[in-house]
Amino acid sequence: MSAPSDSRHGQAGDRRAEVERLIKVLEDSPDGADRQLNTLGMLITDASLDADEIALAEAHDGLQWLYRNHEQQAPEFRGRLQGLLDVTQWALRRLPSRLQLALVPSGHAARFLVAVIQRPGLSNQEIAARIEADETEVSRVGRRLLAAGVVMRRKEWRHNIWDATPRGRQYAESSGLLTKAAPAPPTTAALGVGVVVLPHRLVGVVTDRRARVMTCLEQELPPLLDSMTTATEVADFVNHLLKGVPDADAEASVIGVQVGGHVIPESGRVVFAPNHEPEVPLTGASLAGMIEDATDLPTVIENDANALAQYERSFGDGRDTECFATVILGEGIGSGLIAHGRISHGARSAAGEIGHVVVEQPGRACQCGNKGCLETVASAPAIIGIAQESGLSVSDLDAVLTLANEKDGAATAAVERAGRALGRALSMLLNLTNPEKVILYGPQGLVGSPGTHASDLFLDSVRDARDQYTFPTTGTDCELIAKPLSGEVEARAAAAVALARHQ
Ligand SMILES: [Zn+2]
Repeated sequence: MSAPSDSRHGQAGDRRAEVERLIKVLEDSPDGADRQLNTLGMLITDASLDADEIALAEAHDGLQWLYRNHEQQAPEFRGRLQGLLDVTQWALRRLPSRLQLALVPSGHAARFLVAVIQRPGLSNQEIAARIEADETEVSRVGRRLLAAGVVMRRKEWRHNIWDATPRGRQYAESSGLLTKAAPAPPTTAALGVGVVVLPHRLVGVVTDRRARVMTCLEQELPPLLDSMTTATEVADFVNHLLKGVPDADAEASVIGVQVGGHVIPESGRVVFAPNHEPEVPLTGASLAGMIEDATDLPTVIENDANALAQYERSFGDGRDTECFATVILGEGIGSGLIAHGRISHGARSAAGEIGHVVVEQPGRACQCGNKGCLETVASAPAIIGIAQESGLSVSDLDAVLTLANEKDGAATAAVERAGRALGRALSMLLNLTNPEKVILYGPQGLVGSPGTHASDLFLDSVRDARDQYTFPTTGTDCELIAKPLSGEVEARAAAAVALARHQ
C-alpha cells in the first residue's frame, strides 16, 4: 500500500486535508479500515520528513479523538491507532530541530523573519520598507512563514502586525540568521533620556538613574511631519540633549518616549494618537523602533498617565505603595493604574481611559464620538469651552481661572462643574480598583495653587463628588494628592519608564 502520489508530493495544505479526510473515513467505518490506516501512516511519515507541522498536528488531534471515541472497537484497531499516535507525537517532538525551512539569508523570507524577531509588532508596510520589497511580496512571504509556524499575525486595533513564534526564534538562532543581530542593551542604564512628543513640540530631559533632572530642553516641531521624520527629529533632539551633559556616558543612556493616546510598550507602537491627527499621523507607527534605529539606544514608549504612574512608583509618592492611580488632566484626561507594584496595561494596553467615562447626560460631544465623557467637562479645553458657552470672552485656561479667582459666577461654575465631574469619575475608579492613593496631575492654577479660590473650589468639588458617589470604605481609605503638571515633569516621567526597564 502506498499513499496517493498527489498527497505525497502535493502542497502541505493538501496533505492536511487528506489527513482530515482519512480520519473522517476511519470515524465513520472503523471496521475494515486497514487500507486507510496504512495510508495515514504513509502521510505521517511524509509529514515528518517535510517537517509539516500542520499535517502532523491534524493527524495527532484526529488520532487522539478516534482513540478516545472507539473504546468498543477491537483491541487490534485501537492498538494500531496507538502506534500511529506514538509516531506522530515523536515526529512533533522532533520538529523544532528538524525544521527544514532552508531560508536563504539574503532572501525576503529570512529578512522578514529576522525583522520581526528584532522588532516585534511590525506592520506589512514596515516590513516592506525593511526588506525592500512591495507589500504584495510581504503578504506572499508572510503566508509562507505562517504555514511554517515561524511567525504569527495579530490584530492591534486596525492594524495587522507580525511577531516571531518561539519556533521562529529558535530556527533563526540555530540556522545562523541572527548572527548579525545587535548586541543586547546594557542591563543597567547610567542616564535616562525622557522625551514628550506633543503635536508641534518636543520636551526632553536627561536624568541620572534616580530620575533627577540634569538638563531640560524644548523644541518646536516643523508642521506636517510624517512618523519617520518625527522619529528622526526625536533622535536629533536626544543627541542635542545628551550634549548638554558633557561628562555623561551617552552610550549607557536609555530613552523613554511619551505620547498621549493608546500606545503599546511591548511593540513600541502608537495604536491611536487622536491629538496628533491629522497634522502628525503617528497612529500605527512603530515609533520606539524607529527612534531606536536612529539613535542606537534602547527606547521604550509609554502614554502620559502610565509614565507618571511609573515615575511615582519608582521615585515618588508611590514608592511604598502597591496599588495606586495617577490621573492626568490637561488637553485630555487619562489615568495610570499601578496594581501589585506594576503598571496595569489591560489586554491591549488601553486600560485607564478615565477621560471617556460618561459623567453627564445628555452631555457635550466628545472627540471619541460619545457624549458626556469626563473630558468634555473637566479637560482644559472643556473648561474654556463651557466658560465661553456661558458668555465669557476667554481663550485660555488661565483667563478662566483668573476670573474664577475674582469670584466671577460663570467662571466659578465652570470650575466647580469640572471638579464635580472628575470626582464622580474618580468614584468609579475607586470602587473598581480600590487604590491606596490617587495622584492627580493638572494645571498649576487648577490643582496646585492652595489658597486661591479656583484651586480650592476645584479640589473641594472633586472631593465632595467623590465622597458622594464612592462606596463608603473605598473613598475614605484613599488619599488624594494633587500636583502641578509641566512638560519637564512629563519628560522626567518618560525617563523613569526607560530607567525602570534597565535598572
Ligand atoms: Zn469620549
